[in-house]
Amino acid sequence: MHMATVERKSSPEHEETSNRMFRSKEAMPMDTEVYESPYADPDELRSSTVDRNQLFLEDGELGSGNFGTVMKGIYKMRKTEKPVAVKILKNDDNNPSVREEMLREANVMQQLDNPYIVRMIGICEAENLMLVMELAELGPLNKFLQKNKNTSVKNITELVHQVSMGMKYLEEHNFVHRDLAARNVLLVTQHYAKISDFGLSKAVAEEQNYYKAKGHGKWPVKWYAPECINYFKFSSKSDVWSFGVLMWEAFSFGQKPYKGMKGNDVMQMLESGKRMEPPVNCPTEMYDLMTTCWTYKVEERPGFAVVEPRLREYYYDIAQ
Ligand code: AMP
Repeated sequence: MHMATVERKSSPEHEETSNRMFRSKEAMPMDTEVYESPYADPDELRSSTVDRNQLFLEDGELGSGNFGTVMKGIYKMRKTEKPVAVKILKNDDNNPSVREEMLREANVMQQLDNPYIVRMIGICEAENLMLVMELAELGPLNKFLQKNKNTSVKNITELVHQVSMGMKYLEEHNFVHRDLAARNVLLVTQHYAKISDFGLSKAVAEEQNYYKAKGHGKWPVKWYAPECINYFKFSSKSDVWSFGVLMWEAFSFGQKPYKGMKGNDVMQMLESGKRMEPPVNCPTEMYDLMTTCWTYKVEERPGFAVVEPRLREYYYDIAQ
């Protein structure tokens, strides 16, 4: 009897079921391969470098940016084979700063380990510099929602709550993201979101708790709090402001915030005390939370330690 059970568990049929569960759009966070770090298994050696011979790139791009492309691949570890996303730096000798940027991003990601943040598996220095990451195959949240307009309010709340959990972790570890937006939230499944793109992220000193930028860069102004634009000051509180914009994007199914407006007009609108209107059919509780994230004064704006439980409670209420 016992033997029979063991046999059934290891049968191809069972494997097929569990594979489907891992890859299904409906799988919950804990049922996926990317909930725990690949290095959580003590048999897998923790290393910040990936051996090129163990990395197999597949055809087809997952995405691209000014650094190069992101491809899907398989990383053969000691015990398992991991589907991965590989950010490949294009060979551009004229631009060493892009390489530095990618190494900085890798350095930040390496210090983070949370189920709601895309983990870095390692750096691979081969024909190109490559950043090997956990795969979030369903791609950016804004694009997913643009294509899936039947996604329920409950499902959207679940996803933004997961983002708030990842951000609470960043806040606790004194990192500021500085580019939190729906385009930088990637989906593993329809019910599992992870924060990505740490290209602008910074570790901040605990005593000071903000990062002071030296000058105005290529900034996502529509996601930035007033103190970022006016004083170049970035903190977890300014990430909270961006999170409010991300919530607005999510509940409006991936629409662009402040559509058709220039950065300066947005600043003037915010200075005069106006804020974006609620998205169509957005629950009042969720719009209230967005406007709280858009509190003008940093000192009065809540942190993720307050925002996350508010989302959790609302999600539990409607999930019943
Ligand atoms: P990035 O420059 O990091 O925003 O990456 C550009 C695009 O590549 C993203 O918008 C995604 O479509 C894709 N991408 C990046 N990282 C991943 C990942 N870990 N899993 C799946 N797709 C990814």
